Amino acid sequence: MRRYAIANWKMNLPPAGVDAYFERLRAPREASVVIAPPFPYLKEIAARATVAAQNCADQPSGAFTGEVSAAMIRDCGAKFAIIGHSERRNIFGENDAMIARKLALAIDAALTPVLCVGENQNVRDDGQAAAFVATQIKLTAVPQLERASEILIAYEPVWAIGTGRNATGAMVAEMAGHIRDASSRFWPAADVSILYGGSVTPENVGDLCENGRVDGYLVGGASLDPFKFSAICEGVAGLAET
Ligand code: PEP
Repeated sequence: MRRYAIANWKMNLPPAGVDAYFERLRAPREASVVIAPPFPYLKEIAARATVAAQNCADQPSGAFTGEVSAAMIRDCGAKFAIIGHSERRNIFGENDAMIARKLALAIDAALTPVLCVGENQNVRDDGQAAAFVATQIKLTAVPQLERASEILIAYEPVWAIGTGRNATGAMVAEMAGHIRDASSRFWPAADVSILYGGSVTPENVGDLCENGRVDGYLVGGASLDPFKFSAICEGVAGLAET
């Protein structure tokens, strides 16, 4: 069984500095610990840890100033690419069609995609969260999925990201079930692991691990502190079979 702890540093570096971060980080053998630094640090961090990019371009190459292709990311030593993070969708206007192209290009470049899905507060209040997430999965069903050795889907409810309001273990387990159903319906050949992300901390990781029924976590804010992230990795190492 695979278990993941993925650190999304966003547009930050650890306040203690990169050297101090890795001196302090304790990564248990039972967990696959992955660091997603900003693009310019991919190569440097790839020499010390398994690395993910936080994004990739939706085109393979060409006149797209400021973009970075999936193949370039792979050349920098990354093994994973986060795709469709809600900050990309909501701040930078990425839609499901772009995200589907990114997914296809990441798979073509032999990167393991970490597709982020999740509803906002209004959708949850309307009782439409499961249908919304299923549609996000349906709209990213690309032929390349049949060739991918593994795909990660991170359930990241928008209302829980960077807000300090995490979903409970029970809520995560319910949505993980819907995601398993949707991915087996729309992506029949793909080998899918499911993560949760949204204000995961050492304080709430116990409930999430005990009740969440996922294969790991995508962690933003708390991942910049090596002690907090180590505690989350420790929780991930003890996750039971989903
Ligand atoms: C994220 O941005 O992927 C995330 C989960 O952030 P945070 O842990 O800060 O909510």
